[in-house]
Amino acid sequence: MNVPGSNSLKRIAVVGRGTAGALAAASVTRLHPDSDHELHHIYDSRIPVIGVGEGSWPTLVPQLQQLTGLPHEAIQQRLNGTRKYGVSFEGWGRRDRDFIHYFAPQEVSYAYHLSADVMGDLLQESTRAQHIDAKVIAISRVEGGAQVTFEGRAPERYDLVFDARGFPREQQADEHIEIPFIPTNTAVIRRCPAIIEAERDGPVLEHTYTRAIARPHGWVFVIPLTVHTSYGYIFNRDLSSLADVESDFDALLESDGVGEFEQRAVIPFPNFVHRQIYDGAVVRIGNAAAFMEPLEATAIGFAQMEVGMVLHMRLNRSAEHIERDVPVINRFLVNNVLSNGLFVGWHYCCGSRYDSPFWRHARDEAWPRYRQAVSPEVVGCSALQKFDDMIELMNQQYIDKADWERRCGFPLTSYAQMAQGLGC
Ligand SMILES: Cc1cc2nc3c(=O)[nH]c(=O)nc-3n(C[C@H](O)[C@H](O)[C@H](O)COP(=O)(O)OP(=O)(O)OC[C@H]3O[C@@H](n4cnc5c(N)ncnc54)[C@H](O)[C@@H]3O)c2cc1C
Repeated sequence: MNVPGSNSLKRIAVVGRGTAGALAAASVTRLHPDSDHELHHIYDSRIPVIGVGEGSWPTLVPQLQQLTGLPHEAIQQRLNGTRKYGVSFEGWGRRDRDFIHYFAPQEVSYAYHLSADVMGDLLQESTRAQHIDAKVIAISRVEGGAQVTFEGRAPERYDLVFDARGFPREQQADEHIEIPFIPTNTAVIRRCPAIIEAERDGPVLEHTYTRAIARPHGWVFVIPLTVHTSYGYIFNRDLSSLADVESDFDALLESDGVGEFEQRAVIPFPNFVHRQIYDGAVVRIGNAAAFMEPLEATAIGFAQMEVGMVLHMRLNRSAEHIERDVPVINRFLVNNVLSNGLFVGWHYCCGSRYDSPFWRHARDEAWPRYRQAVSPEVVGCSALQKFDDMIELMNQQYIDKADWERRCGFPLTSYAQMAQGLGC
């Protein structure tokens, strides 16, 4: 088979072995047509992976099957997984009514709730790479590729480097677009006993949903796995003290009948997208490229999209197109993150059953910033126009069939379910 870009893609590095890096390394192994390509999977075993990221989207189900070659049932069991059919919202919006945001088609399409701890191991089994345990000091562009500089090791030159080193250390206005209309910035993670029992002979078939429970200081996710149940309290550390959040977390667990838990982590996070995700030789993926709070579990799906898109473009188009493709790929990916961000931020626009400082801030101060934050002059893409079009569409009395497939990050069915549920 003639693959025009494969000659300019002989030496590839993936830096990082979190979910994003593991996906990239397995994808290179699966998609590269030439057996003589060289893949270095580089990570520093002294720097732990973030270890959260247990909700996903339905696209992950066929992709894991394709990457691992294992049957769906075996994959789900390896991941200690359950089948996620959507997100169950409790106490959100103006109607004080609980509702579910289903994947489409409803009760057919499912994703995984998965143990982030074991996802990397599963993907590594399908990866053919030289593993390098070393600290990377810098990744820089050089003529025709990129150079990786290590601590205590000679630098290496590659045709393409996936930078999956996790959250950037700090936010820089010239490099990052902030998403200030999402009102949360910190998570407290607790691990509780499993409420779903593993089946002895096969995967758990029961339909499960990520619970997203509105609370006075933010909201709490509940993800049921077969080995434990993950709870995460998502809040804003500039508005609520950790002590107040922990105390409300205790109250929720008590009302859920959870008697014991393991305190896992307190994780501050940025809501942002990198202005230059791909520069022709280096592609930032996973939390290094973009992040928004986990309300709709968008991160793994975005990493899948980035890896797939860059690899397909690099393999299927000859090297002379690289420079021309860079701005197109970037605009598409930034647009996708901001479109998702608008959908997630919009969840707060009708408040919740709590009239607390957090919810007043979320509804009245944070969300109204979206127009300015995503204006095309600031971000160089059309996410805002697409979002406005979706809202206008939902306000129509009749939606033409030709519009049913429209999307702004999320599909029209998602917008319609959230609008109904939130009462906006
Ligand atoms: C509270 C919370 C909940 C989340 N829930 C979800 C969810 O439900 N669904 C979802 O899709 N996502 C979720 N996420 C996002 C989740 O973090 C990502 O999906 C995923 O784990 C990607 O992480 P990563 O691979 O980019 O980075 P990490 O897991 O941080 O991995 C970074 C890797 O880079 C290596 N590294 C770092 N620096 C260096 C260096 N200098 N040299 C060499 N190696 C280095 C580390 O050793 C590590 O291997 C959540 C995030 C948070 C904070």
